[in-house]
Amino acid sequence: MTGPVDGPAPVDRHAVAARLADVRRRIAGAGGDDGIRVLAVTKGFGPDAVEAALELGLTAVGENYAQELVAKVEALGTDRDPMPRWHFLGRLQRNKVRLLAPHVGVWESVDRGPLVDEIAKRAPGAVVYVQVDLSGEPQKGGAAPAEVPGLVARARDAGLAVRGLMGVGPAGPAEAARPGFRMLVALADELGLVERSIGMTGDLEVAVAEGATEVRVGTALFGPRPSRADPPSPSSGGAPSPSDGG
Ligand SMILES: *Cc1c(COP(=O)(O)O)cnc(C)c1O
Repeated sequence: MTGPVDGPAPVDRHAVAARLADVRRRIAGAGGDDGIRVLAVTKGFGPDAVEAALELGLTAVGENYAQELVAKVEALGTDRDPMPRWHFLGRLQRNKVRLLAPHVGVWESVDRGPLVDEIAKRAPGAVVYVQVDLSGEPQKGGAAPAEVPGLVARARDAGLAVRGLMGVGPAGPAEAARPGFRMLVALADELGLVERSIGMTGDLEVAVAEGATEVRVGTALFGPRPSRADPPSPSSGGAPSPSDGG
């Protein structure tokens, strides 16, 4: 899209279907199979992006901003079949956990102890992934690798269902993500965690080759996003995005 964006760009369902086929070809080309989950990252787009994903059988849907997720939940209603399973991906402030708890199926950005405790309190037994810092870029979140085993133990002790690790590769060429992805997969093996949520539009082949069980794909499915929703800036964790509409 060019020019000012007043609301989320409309989503062309046929284009999304064609792009999904391309994403699946990329996954297969990297040696992956149909078991790899394609998480549809709908941030920056409206509820029609979620509808398009659901129509294509993508029930795992990712969002980065609390208000934007809740707005989409409200727009979509509760009587859909299938319903989306919401994965929360963004920097998470503790005070947003209560708002999100009724909606989030998988908390992927768990990266510190107080957040573990708050999720355990507001969403007992919830499914979580621990986010590992793979880039040293603080705005991307994630716990330092050395802190991950302790955090996983804390989450398990708190009754959370720790299913996997999540990581965001560094900016730059896809290949630069490989060492971090490899380290994350080794850490997941050590800790007995099945899910490895690594890889986005730019580096999903590397992630699949290194053992991703889930790739988180936004741009490759829905096209370019309105700029404010991506990437999250240090000051915008949990802040409303343009599509929250005030
Ligand atoms: C935005 C985002 C994605 C999707 O990014 P694309 O490059 O558009 O595929 C995946 N994971 C996280 C954590 C994100 O913030």
